[in-house]
Amino acid sequence: MRLLLVLLALSLPVTSLAAPVATPQLTGPTFTATRLTDNVFALTLSPGSRATSNALLVVGDRYAVVAGAHMTRETIDALVARTAAITPLPIRYFVLTHHHRGYTHIDFDFPPDAEVIMSWQTWQALAGETRAISFPVLFFRDGLTLRIGGRNLVLTNIGPAHTDGDVIAYLPESKLLFTSDLFYAGGVGYMGDGHMQDWVLALEFLQSLRAERIIPGQGPVSRPEDLVEYTRFFRDFLTEIIAHLERGDSLKQTLKSFRLDRHRSRRGYAEFMPVNIERAWTQLAETVTPKR
Ligand SMILES: [Zn+2]
Repeated sequence: MRLLLVLLALSLPVTSLAAPVATPQLTGPTFTATRLTDNVFALTLSPGSRATSNALLVVGDRYAVVAGAHMTRETIDALVARTAAITPLPIRYFVLTHHHRGYTHIDFDFPPDAEVIMSWQTWQALAGETRAISFPVLFFRDGLTLRIGGRNLVLTNIGPAHTDGDVIAYLPESKLLFTSDLFYAGGVGYMGDGHMQDWVLALEFLQSLRAERIIPGQGPVSRPEDLVEYTRFFRDFLTEIIAHLERGDSLKQTLKSFRLDRHRSRRGYAEFMPVNIERAWTQLAETVTPKR
């Protein structure tokens, strides 16, 4: 239930932090397409969109590929419609970057004629749900590269980070990276299913790819410095959690007194930090011993 609430909260409009903006009417999951290079588009959440995670569209000679997450039936319909406005070619592959366990209203309603590519961990998560899978699945362990439209679309299984097995998509010729929910530009993001220490390492790996433009899970198409800044936030957050654990603070005490003032202006701070603190405290408590 908590994740459901968070996912709903995630669907709140993405607006500038600098100035209050009137809340647009929620109209459904809508995406704004931004052409990044020939036949490659960022599909970012439109203001007021009920979709909750950005997507990537790559158009080839005979078919298109869409990568993304949190795929409700409505979101999939919106992605199909957005793609159809750009190309008459069909979506042959969806890349499902991750799945949040326990939620069957997402990631089960792909068109029967599309194949869905995912990490083995995401496959296990889907196969463990109560709903049957009615679409063809391709899953992989380490990586998989699609040749599409004369370019490489490199899919890499990062392993545990935002979920048990997150996939990123990289276009090396264009230096374009789609991180999905490993990176939230300007936000704190949802960490309730996260593996915190692995996630920090994943962020450093993402930086090492030296992408020039990065499509985050939420927020606008970003630059490397934005990823560096998110990594700094993430490290500061964990450092603060460790300080609480070293003082011997209980989870309750940590939740009550936690402060990270220099990052307070990040989008979603008030909504997501309680669940993020709980996740990080619980995981790090296994390895950090109080200093008496
Ligand atoms: Zn997610």
